[in-house]
Amino acid sequence: MRPFVFSADGHIVEPPDLFLEGLPASMRSRAIHSEKRDDYLCTVSGEKVIFRMRMRTGPLADEATSMRGPDVAPARRALGHNNIPGRLQDMKDEGIDAEIVFPSLGLWTYALEDEDLELATTQVYNDWNNAFFRDHTDTFVRCAVIPVRNLNNAVSELKRVAAMGFTAAMVPSITMKGIPAYNDPAWDPVFEAGAQLGIAFVLHTGTGAENVVVERGPGAAVMNYTRQMGDAQNAIMALVAGGVLDRNPKAQIAVIESGASWLAGLSERMDEVYYAHQVFVRPKLSRKPGEIIRAQVKASFQYDRACIMSRSVTGHEALIWGSDYPHSEGTFPHTPEVLARLFDGIEISEREKADIVGGNAARLFRLNRPEFAVPA
Ligand code: MN
Repeated sequence: MRPFVFSADGHIVEPPDLFLEGLPASMRSRAIHSEKRDDYLCTVSGEKVIFRMRMRTGPLADEATSMRGPDVAPARRALGHNNIPGRLQDMKDEGIDAEIVFPSLGLWTYALEDEDLELATTQVYNDWNNAFFRDHTDTFVRCAVIPVRNLNNAVSELKRVAAMGFTAAMVPSITMKGIPAYNDPAWDPVFEAGAQLGIAFVLHTGTGAENVVVERGPGAAVMNYTRQMGDAQNAIMALVAGGVLDRNPKAQIAVIESGASWLAGLSERMDEVYYAHQVFVRPKLSRKPGEIIRAQVKASFQYDRACIMSRSVTGHEALIWGSDYPHSEGTFPHTPEVLARLFDGIEISEREKADIVGGNAARLFRLNRPEFAVPA
């Protein structure tokens, strides 16, 4: 029997007018939305162009321009980028039993600099997401987007979505200009609240970046996507070294779509530095960095199997597989082949395999099925 498969990385495309119609009237002129300008699909807020992507032409153009991702055509059209029946059909064909779902337009929330607009945007998204998925919580984990321009708003929105039953919430992968870095104790109340409310924090790759296209010239496409691994490393490094995770030992973090093979290396490097340079180390931590990572950090991966080979460092519990459906850089529509080869040549128990492809994430995100309930 195949194990239960939970994808830790999926995206839903919101209705195009979600923020244009959902925000208070005074804010609508700055609502995040996409519009076609010449050959580009631009994501804009007021005068600000947040992101632009050259549109493709041909049979897959509609889908390609409706989501975020590099300009590579998938082998076949995804049926469920914006609806549940198509999603369930694709999941059945792909052998995926459940997933956590992240935004598309909503990924750009952190480009908004005004704290009131940011808060209102997250509330519109979270309310819509709740209504869309709340009758399907045995299959879909809802992920809130949490405002961070004012961390009091972060705590209040965490409480609001927890009351709706959310078990996961997004904060930016990169702490953009104007907000505290992740080694700042200003984050303690946020991570304390998440821990108390049973909400796992998600850092999805690319979020908080002013521009995901940083490198130009030869190799730029490979460099821009590869370097997002470094953003996840920096975030975890700061949350661990600065003591936020140590002081909030029940807080759980998942970094998404940044790969996972680096986690063992980061863990060993931080342990080494912590002791080798201990006269300079402030604050002192109650646990080794590697122990904090092992207890509180998870990382999603699609293909990079070195994380499985290095699991004696991180614990296999840190590894959560994800498809990144429906994005063209993800595993759709060849997920069965990817999963079938995931453990090739690696000595590993059936239990560990099942945890990595499903159990770890289903328990972390508290998927609403009795077999994944975690004792309090
Ligand atoms: Mn993704």
